[in-house]
Amino acid sequence: MDLQDTPAEAAFRRGLRDWLGKVLPDLPPPPDPLDWPARRAYDTAWQRRLYDAGYAGVHWPREVGGQGATPAEYLIFLEETERAGAPYVGANFVGLLHAGPTIAAEGTAEQRRRWLPGILSGAEVWCQGFSEPGAGSDLAALRTRAVRDGDDYVVSGSKLWTSHAEVADWCELLVRTDPAAPRHRGISWLVLPMDAPGVTVRPLRTLMGTAEFAELFLDEVRVPVANRVGAENDGWRVTMVTLSFERGTAFAGEVVACRRALVELAGLARRNGVWEADPGLRRSLGLLAARFGALWRLVQWNVSEAQGGGVPGPGASVFKLCFSEARQELYDLAAAVLGSGALVLADGEGDDWTAQRLQGLSYTIAAGTSQIQRNIVAQRVLGLPKPGRA
Ligand SMILES: Cc1cc2nc3c(=O)[nH]c(=O)nc-3n(C[C@H](O)[C@H](O)[C@H](O)COP(=O)(O)OP(=O)(O)OC[C@H]3O[C@@H](n4cnc5c(N)ncnc54)[C@H](O)[C@@H]3O)c2cc1C
Repeated sequence: MDLQDTPAEAAFRRGLRDWLGKVLPDLPPPPDPLDWPARRAYDTAWQRRLYDAGYAGVHWPREVGGQGATPAEYLIFLEETERAGAPYVGANFVGLLHAGPTIAAEGTAEQRRRWLPGILSGAEVWCQGFSEPGAGSDLAALRTRAVRDGDDYVVSGSKLWTSHAEVADWCELLVRTDPAAPRHRGISWLVLPMDAPGVTVRPLRTLMGTAEFAELFLDEVRVPVANRVGAENDGWRVTMVTLSFERGTAFAGEVVACRRALVELAGLARRNGVWEADPGLRRSLGLLAARFGALWRLVQWNVSEAQGGGVPGPGASVFKLCFSEARQELYDLAAAVLGSGALVLADGEGDDWTAQRLQGLSYTIAAGTSQIQRNIVAQRVLGLPKPGRA
């Protein structure tokens, strides 16, 4: 297999590199991470620039408004934007990386027309209303109910850990539409307008001090039946599509970021003498570099699978499990290199590393915990029996 750029890929890389070289020097500095409205404005303005330049939805098919790029070109896009220090996807994460792809795969032509352009241009921000108190790992236990009333569903219940809810326009929402059906069969996937009467958002503070996510309360909220993606009561299947994108491809750009961080960490270790003094640390850095190399291969696999068959397969959970654990090890290693400097956020050299380490604690929980990914890998990838079955 030839892993070098083809002439077309090399031209795509050059064009993107030139464009990034022109626009990035004029970009204002990123806003205060505690200020979500400012972060929304910043992230969506960047998305608009990508859109205007023809780089929004690089890997989405042309018929849904994307650029129809090959998997290799999408990976080049991730490499080059990261290398140049372009802004992270941020507030556009849910829309671009899993709600949009779900609508592209499962929505009607009208739904694609209604929602995909706003995601691509950065005009509209999305959040995800899946988890509830009592329905996190066991998502099929969800109780938020939707009762049909003419052309609307009337939705009541509550959601938890809804990232970016405070600044979102739309929410991919799971509701129970048939309480009498077996629990995986009575669920529907709706698009909730966040400004509808009866929607209340109550921000939750994280370890980092940011209001990254929120509780969502829904009190008799009217959602048009036309906002249902997939058939009524077929929402569990649509949810598996969303989770495959979320676990299989959404973190692809972060693998590039982690590979760069590893190189920076080796440099830091050399500068502060740890590199020479600690062969164990050198070995750990080398092993981690190999793991991130393997993770990049998994990214290539999942992206190709998504573009070939429309959706990444159960290997998405292999990636999610290995990536989130490797990322935590990377920042634990950074703490070992920094020593006591890693214990405080005090405007020092270690701040970014410490912030990333604290943030990374959530990576083995968000988008499904490591224990749940292990169960999925055991049963759906390796074909092992479910607990209690021979
Ligand atoms: C940073 C962050 C952002 C998030 N953003 C969103 C969002 O935008 N939208 C959204 O809907 N949700 C979001 N979540 C919620 C996330 O999906 C859930 O936290 C996750 O699915 C775990 O559910 P839980 O918190 O209810 O834990 P629980 O399900 O209560 O699990 C507690 C522990 O028990 C373990 N456990 C549970 N069942 C099993 C089992 N069968 N076998 C083995 N171990 C098991 C779990 O692995 C875990 O360690 C976010 C979470 C985080 C941390």
